[in-house]
Amino acid sequence: FFKRLRENMAKTREALGAELQATLFEGDIDEDTWERLEEALIMADVGAQTTAKVVGQLEQEATEGGLVGGEALSQRLTELLADIARTGDGRIDVSHGPTVIMTIGVNGTGKTTTIGKLAWHLQKELGLTVVLGAADTFRAAAVEQLEQWSVRAGCEIVKGPEGSDPGSVAFEAVKRGREIGADVVIVDTAGRLHNQDHLMEELAKIRRVIGKQLADAPHETLLTVDSTTGQNGLRQAQLFSQAVPVDGIVLTKLDGTAKGGIALAIAAETGIPVKLIGIGEALEDLRPFDADDFAAALLS
Ligand code: GDP
Repeated sequence: FFKRLRENMAKTREALGAELQATLFEGDIDEDTWERLEEALIMADVGAQTTAKVVGQLEQEATEGGLVGGEALSQRLTELLADIARTGDGRIDVSHGPTVIMTIGVNGTGKTTTIGKLAWHLQKELGLTVVLGAADTFRAAAVEQLEQWSVRAGCEIVKGPEGSDPGSVAFEAVKRGREIGADVVIVDTAGRLHNQDHLMEELAKIRRVIGKQLADAPHETLLTVDSTTGQNGLRQAQLFSQAVPVDGIVLTKLDGTAKGGIALAIAAETGIPVKLIGIGEALEDLRPFDADDFAAALLS
């Protein structure tokens, strides 16, 4: 897995690496080092605040004499980045019988693909029973796409007629999950950001309706964030978490971006753990997020 993560994160590695490997980590640390480091982290979308914090910490350690030479700097930087990325508990507990996972996120961020990969993993690799709820009733294409994924994963899907009430579809999906003794119910939701207030209300309502069917549900609300959109992803995380409690981030399309550092900005500035990462379009390209592997892959 680590090797594949490194390969798929080649672009972020190049963005950071070109600056860092060549000039920073060879030879002595000097004034120039900090400026270049700062620039490289900003370019990788680590964010101004987080970058300042990391560089400040390293500078202080170097001044105090605890950091000598490029190799030590590289190692310490990896540690610091991993510490920042490691927010809360990254695990998803699927033992609620059924565990209800609500997925939210802006259209195009990879929400449907993530649901498909997750359903496939749970059903085919872990042997659990999954039900999908197609509560993005606004887009007929979204329902169709989700249906295709349900076939691939070999799981049931609950849907309503086009334009039907998203809350009622979510309600029926959880009900169906309980009826057949499913382990996990994954509820898709709409992601049209142009009608922001309405969307946020709709998400809050779906959440309440799910809670009527199963009191402690949804157990997990996952927000998909497209890593290629850089700092926009951070703003989306802030926006959605104001409307509904977000338990975890799924950072998608990490294979196609030089901006993988956004994972650190999101973790540092929202405190929401990144739980899963998308590193390609294939079924097996959804992985648990590991802060240490991630930081190492950024820099090695
Ligand atoms: P939604 O509108 O949020 O449901 O987004 P989709 O799931 O339809 O995904 C939008 C596009 O992004 C599709 O072409 C997906 O194949 C692609 N996609 C999703 N996740 C990933 C990923 O991790 N890596 C890559 N390279 N593409 C992805």
